[in-house]
Amino acid sequence: MESTSIKIHTSICPVCGNKATTPFLTCKDYLASHEIFDIYKCNRCGFAFTQDFPSEEAIGRYYDAPAYVSHSDTHKGIINMLYHWARKIALRSKAKMVCRYAGDKKGMLLDIGSGTGYFLNKMKERKWVVTGIEKSETARNYTKQKFNINCQASDYLYEIPCKTKDVITMWHVLEHLEHLNSVMDHLQGILKDDGTLIIALPNKSSFDAAYYKENWAAYDVPRHLWHFSPADFEHLAKRHHFEIIATKPMYFDAFYISMLSEKNKGSFLGSIVGLFRGGLFFIKTLGNKSKSSSLIYILKKKKQ
Ligand SMILES: [Zn+2]
Repeated sequence: MESTSIKIHTSICPVCGNKATTPFLTCKDYLASHEIFDIYKCNRCGFAFTQDFPSEEAIGRYYDAPAYVSHSDTHKGIINMLYHWARKIALRSKAKMVCRYAGDKKGMLLDIGSGTGYFLNKMKERKWVVTGIEKSETARNYTKQKFNINCQASDYLYEIPCKTKDVITMWHVLEHLEHLNSVMDHLQGILKDDGTLIIALPNKSSFDAAYYKENWAAYDVPRHLWHFSPADFEHLAKRHHFEIIATKPMYFDAFYISMLSEKNKGSFLGSIVGLFRGGLFFIKTLGNKSKSSSLIYILKKKKQ
């Protein structure tokens, strides 16, 4: 990757190292800037990435949107209402998942991209020692105020001592991080040998992605830099000496993403149409979980 003043141009596939890439889709930033960004695909492994995305220093303004719900707590609108209801249920299932794969012991949990802190709080209630990393100061302050949990800024990741975390979680965060490979390497370093890494990502080979194409809300350019299929992610995991021990669908995302995608398309009664289509995708997913809108990957260190 070479960096110009503010745009990051990717000429080597970050997953397989191949040099040949081709334009795949042209997407619009519907949320903040309304600028156009290209998504490229690796000719060898099929991994996709947002081309010429703004660098870490320049991307801040693309997050400055009132509708950026993961950092907000408003209850306005049907999409946000459903989002908050679904979050409640999702929180419970996330907590259960952590306890199940960590072997039911309590320990040190690191949540990267902890947002407004709901998941951290849920795990704290379950007697875990929690640490959150969150780049938004507003979200960190919110977490402190609402849950009395201190979160750290992004740089803290590199101050964490080796092999000290039992569980590391990243809920829809890795696709936002510029330094994909160095972050994965670092996670391998700070996780205990018997630790568990849990990463949730949008699935670019989902039913809804195939249907909505450039309007698929989970491309979310330029905030989403990397666009994974299960095969792409497995490739990346292997490269960093992790093995995927389980993959779980996130059922609600089909509804939420379809509603946003209909809105992107400018559909009449988009929320209703999206809810309906999301329902159809959800039913199809029951027979084919790998086509789910989002997937949660549970990883362990590969035994040397
Ligand atoms: Zn590749």
